[in-house]
Amino acid sequence: PPSATPSPIQAYLDTLHREFSGLTAGEVATYIPELAKVAPDGFGIVLATVDGQVYEVGDARHAFSIQSVSKPFVYGIALEDNGRARVEQAIGMEPTGDPFNAISLEPGTGRPLNPMINAGAIAAAALVAGTTEAARLARVLDALSAFAGRPLDIDQAIFESERDTGHRNRAIGHMLRNYGIVDGDPEPALGLYFRQCAVRVDCRDLALMAATLANGGVHPATGQRAVRSEFIEPMLSLMTTCGMYDYSGSWVYNVGLPAKSGVGGGIIAVLPGQLGIGVYSPRLDERGNSARGVAVCRRISADLGLHFLQPP
Ligand code: GLU
Repeated sequence: PPSATPSPIQAYLDTLHREFSGLTAGEVATYIPELAKVAPDGFGIVLATVDGQVYEVGDARHAFSIQSVSKPFVYGIALEDNGRARVEQAIGMEPTGDPFNAISLEPGTGRPLNPMINAGAIAAAALVAGTTEAARLARVLDALSAFAGRPLDIDQAIFESERDTGHRNRAIGHMLRNYGIVDGDPEPALGLYFRQCAVRVDCRDLALMAATLANGGVHPATGQRAVRSEFIEPMLSLMTTCGMYDYSGSWVYNVGLPAKSGVGGGIIAVLPGQLGIGVYSPRLDERGNSARGVAVCRRISADLGLHFLQPP
């Protein structure tokens, strides 16, 4: 039953949602044919705290594909399965300022510059442990599900659409093979990468995944550990410096929270020790970030004073 006194946080989110519904700038991603079909005006905001409170407004339960928001999580799996030293040999930690699909590798080593661009994410997918493709996919799905606190699955149409058109990512996979970052045929790593991008989530899942990161890797509601606590720091570091494509520097300046966005329209932002934010709105700005998502996070950070470099 609705409580007599509505929470001030809920009232705040309702106001935000009303206000930013009026922002209709941007276009849905079309380079993956299946993504072009999503309803452009979907809009949800969810806030989840580390003590298990969840506040949601709008299209919080509408399913969409996670896309690049999967990248920090699969990077965490690569770290768990291989340790930091091995992962650092394969994937760097420098922001690029280039778009997500840039075919740019570190001169000399051939390492992708970081795990948040496609090259680094494909290298991370290649590091997921498992003796068969099915086992590696199960590893990824289980880990993402542990972060979300419920079993997640794959949107088969999105997966097939990207598999059939992802020639640029295939080129990146072969570059990685050329430099020995990926051993042998890159196709299995690409298949896993396309599937991880097609994992179906809703905005509530994103907020809880972010809250699990904020909570040191333990899901606030299920109590299940999704990743070892020692890997939270590298995951959040790279989200901070590289999470928002070529807007990452401006994002730190304006919002000041570790974050990751995806071309499906999702954004996660993390306030360590406190809360996770999920926003869904598939109209993207020119950098490929959810236009409303960026605007909403800027506002929340300013209103609640969440910038991590703010003086006490
Ligand atoms: N699967 C997408 C790609 O590799 C993910 C892009 C994104 O969300 O940044 O093109």
